[in-house]
Amino acid sequence: MSVKYVYMFSEGTGKMKELLGGKGANLAEMTSLGLPIPEGFTVTTEACTLYNTSGKVMSDEVKAQVDKAIEELEKISQKKFGDTKNPLLVSVRSGSRASMPGMMDTVLNLGLNDEAVEGLAAATNNPRFAYDSYRRFIMMFSDVVIGVSKHYFEVVLDEFKTSKGYKDDLEMSTEDLKELVATFKKIYKDKHGDDFPSDVKGQLYESIAAVFRSWDNPRADYYRRMNDIPYDWGTAVNVQSMVFGNMGETSGTGVIFSRNPATGENKIYGEYMINAQGEDVVAGVRTPKPFEELEKDMPEVYREFLGYSDKLEKHYKDMQDMEMTIENGKLYILQTRSGKRTAAAALRIAVELVDEGLITTKEAVLKVDPKQLDQLLHPTFDPKAIALAKPIGKALPASPGAACGQVYFTSKDAKDAHDRGEKVILVRNETSPEDIEGMAASQGILTVKGGMTSHAAVVARAMGTCCVSGCEEIKMGTKSFELAGCTIKEGDFISLDGSTGLIYNEVIGTVESEISGDFEKLMKWADEHRKLKVRTNADTPEDARKALEFGAEGIGLTRTEHMFFEPDRIPKFRAMIMSDTLEEREAALESIMPFQKKDFVEIYEAMEGRPVTIRLLDPPLHEFVPHSEEDYKVVAGITGKTVEELKAKAAAMHEINPMMGHRGCRLSVTFPEITKMQVRAILEAAIEVKKNKGFNVVPEIMIPLVGEIKEYRFVKNIVDETAKEVFEKMGTTIEYMVGTMIEIPRAALTADAIAKEAEFFSFGTNDLTQLTYGLSRDDAGKILNDYIDNNIYEVDPTARLDRTGVGELIDIACKRGKSTRPDIKLGICGEHGGDPYSIEFCHHVGLDYVSCSPFRVPIARLAAAHAALGAVNER
Ligand code: PEP
Ligand code: MG
Repeated sequence: MSVKYVYMFSEGTGKMKELLGGKGANLAEMTSLGLPIPEGFTVTTEACTLYNTSGKVMSDEVKAQVDKAIEELEKISQKKFGDTKNPLLVSVRSGSRASMPGMMDTVLNLGLNDEAVEGLAAATNNPRFAYDSYRRFIMMFSDVVIGVSKHYFEVVLDEFKTSKGYKDDLEMSTEDLKELVATFKKIYKDKHGDDFPSDVKGQLYESIAAVFRSWDNPRADYYRRMNDIPYDWGTAVNVQSMVFGNMGETSGTGVIFSRNPATGENKIYGEYMINAQGEDVVAGVRTPKPFEELEKDMPEVYREFLGYSDKLEKHYKDMQDMEMTIENGKLYILQTRSGKRTAAAALRIAVELVDEGLITTKEAVLKVDPKQLDQLLHPTFDPKAIALAKPIGKALPASPGAACGQVYFTSKDAKDAHDRGEKVILVRNETSPEDIEGMAASQGILTVKGGMTSHAAVVARAMGTCCVSGCEEIKMGTKSFELAGCTIKEGDFISLDGSTGLIYNEVIGTVESEISGDFEKLMKWADEHRKLKVRTNADTPEDARKALEFGAEGIGLTRTEHMFFEPDRIPKFRAMIMSDTLEEREAALESIMPFQKKDFVEIYEAMEGRPVTIRLLDPPLHEFVPHSEEDYKVVAGITGKTVEELKAKAAAMHEINPMMGHRGCRLSVTFPEITKMQVRAILEAAIEVKKNKGFNVVPEIMIPLVGEIKEYRFVKNIVDETAKEVFEKMGTTIEYMVGTMIEIPRAALTADAIAKEAEFFSFGTNDLTQLTYGLSRDDAGKILNDYIDNNIYEVDPTARLDRTGVGELIDIACKRGKSTRPDIKLGICGEHGGDPYSIEFCHHVGLDYVSCSPFRVPIARLAAAHAALGAVNER
C-alpha cells in the first residue's frame, strides 16, 4: 500500500500534529473553520524521516505526490506554477510537532525565474515589486538551499545602494532591481558553479529537501536538546501560496497574541508593519507598531482580525499566537498556534480560562508546563535598591525578570564568560538563532532593534531569561556601546529589568520573587489530582522551612554529612574521620553530636510532625579530607597532631575511586561508633521535640549504599541496639522506622530479601544511575557532551531518569520488595525526583512519593498531577 506523504490543507485535521507538524495541523484546522488561509499543502514528518534516513535523497513517490498537490493548488488559485502570465508563488516552511521558532529554514517567493518574474510584473501591474521579490528569492534560495551565504548578497546590496546614494531599499527602482537580480545570479554562479535554477519544480524539491535537512542543523539540534524534543520526530514542510504584505501602503504583516504573553492579561497584544513581509517582523529588522494602531490605519481589517482572534481562542481554548498578512487590503491568517508565554502569564491564563468557563480545572492544570514554574522562582530586584537606582534607558520589556551582570557583545564571549563563572548580559544589535548558546548562558539580553515578537523576545521568554529589546538609542561601538552619554565597555556591569524595560548602568541587588494568587489556586487544583506525595531533600532547618512554603509534605532525604559544610563545623568533622583510634574518634564524635542533634530538633520542629527521613552518614571521602595547607593547620589545632601526620593519614585513606569506596553503610561496618552517635542524636531530638512541642515525630532512619542484606542487617542491629540504650536512658520510647536506599543494582535485584527487614526503600537514582551505567558522577560531564553531540544519549541520564535500564531496576525492586512486604513505603530521593519526565515514571511504577530540592517542589507537585491526569512527557 502506498504511503500518503502529502496532504492538502483541506484533507488534514487539527489532531494530526505527529504527521503534519503543529503548523500543518493548525492550517488544516483553520481551513475547516473557514478562516481566510492562503491555500497549500503539507509534506509529512514521515517524508522528512524517510529523506534523512535514506541518504538525503527525496524519493520519486514523494516528488510525485508533491507534483499532484501543486496541480491541485494551481486549480484552486487559478494560477500556474512558473507561468509567464499569472505565476503561482509559494512559501516553503518548516513545522515540527513542537514549535521551534526560527530554528529551521524557510524559503519565500518560490516559483520565480526570468519568465515568471515578467508574469508576476504583468499580473500585479507592479514590475518593481516583481523584481524585488525575485532578488529576495535568489538570495534566500542560495543561502538556505545551497549554502551560499546571504552575506555575499548583502554586501553587494549595500555597495550598490551606497554607489547610488540611497539610504533605504525603497529608493531602488525597477531597473536597479533588475540589475541586482543579474548580479545576484552571477554571485550564485561564481560560488556554486551552475546557473541559478530556472526549473520551478526543481526549486521546490530542493527547498523541501533543505527544510528536511535543517532539522539536522546545529541550532535546531541545540534547541531540541534544551526543550527535550526527540530527534526522530522530524519536521513537516508546509507549501503555501504566497500572499504579499509588501505590495504597498494597504498591505502589511503582523504577529499578534490573543492575550498578553508576558503578563497573561486578557487583552489582544501584538505588532504589525505596513508594507513589509512577515520575516521583517520576526527578524526585528525594523521596529513595528503596536497592534492597536491598526484600528486607525485599517479599521475594517482591524475588526475582522479581532473576530478571528476570538474565534480561534474559543476554538482552541487557549491563548493564540497568530500571524497575519494584509495584501492590498485583504486579510489573511497565515498561522496560529498556542502562544509561548511566561510562567506568570501561563498561570493567569489558565486560571482565567477556568473563570471564563472555557476550560475545567483539570485542563487548567494540564495547560501549565511544570518546568516553566522555575521562572516564577527566579529573583527580582531588591525593591529598596531599585527605588534608588536611576535608569539610563528604557526599551521594550520583552521577557520579565531581573538581571545584573557583565556586558558581552557576542554569543561566544558571553558563553566563555559564563563558563568562567561570570554573570553575563548579552548585548546585541538584534539576535538570530546563531546566538542561542550565548543567550542561554546569559542572565539577561539587551537588543538595539526588534519588537516584542522579535527573535530575542520570543526565545528569551521561552528560556525564562530576562530580555529588554529594541533600545534604538544605543550606539554600538567595538566591544562597547553608548547610551545616554555613558560608554559601557565589555566587562562592565549593567542591570536590566525585563518587566519594565529599564536599563541601569550599575549593580542592583536581587531578591527572590513572590508568588501570585494564581499560583496558589493552580497548585491547589494540581494537589487535588495527584497521587504521588511530594517531599523535599533538605539538609538544614532553613531548607526545610523553604520547602514547606513551597508545599513539601515531608522530608525524603537529609544528607547528614551536608550538615557539616559550615566553616565552624567542617574541621571537627575532619578530625573525626581522620582519627587513628576509637578513643580519638569517640571524642571527636562527642564534639559534633550537639550540632547534629540541634539541627534535627529544628528540622523536626519545622516539619511539625510530617515524615522526616534521615540518612546515616555517607561521605565520599575525597569530598571531606582537608584540601589546603590552611585546612590541615586547623585540623592539627583540634587534634594535636602535626600537619605532616595528618597528611600521612590522608594519603593512607586515599582511594582510587571514592564514589565506590569507603562510604555509606561501609563506614558503619568499620566504625559502628559513628552510627551510634547519629542514632542517639536522631532519637533524642525526636523525644525532645515530642516532649516540648507535642509533634509526634516518627524518624525514618535510612541506611545508604546497601547491596547485601547482611550488611543492612549489620547496621540495622546497631540502630536497634542504640535505640534501646537511648530509650532506657531517657526513660521513654518513640516509634521509628528503619529502611534503606536502593542505589546499588544488587540491592534492586535482591530487594525481596532486603524488604523482609527494611520498612521503606528510597531510590537513590544518582548512584543507581552511576553504577548502572558504570559512569562516574564526578567525570560524567566531560564524557556526556560527546555522547549527546553524537546522538548516543539523547539527554543526560543523571538529570533525566533512564527508563529503560535504571527504570527497569526500579521496577524490579518495587515488585520484589512488595512481594515480601506488600505495604513497603517507596520513594525516590535522587535528583530525578524533581524532573517532570522522571516523576511521570515514578507515578506509573507505583512509588508513594518523590523527594526533591525545595525550589523544585512546586514543579514536582504539578508534574505529579500531570502524570495522574495521564499527560505524557514525550521524549
Ligand atoms: C543518590 O545516590 O541518589 C542520593 C540521593 O544520594 P547521594 O546523591 O548523596 O549519593
Ligand atoms: Mg547516593
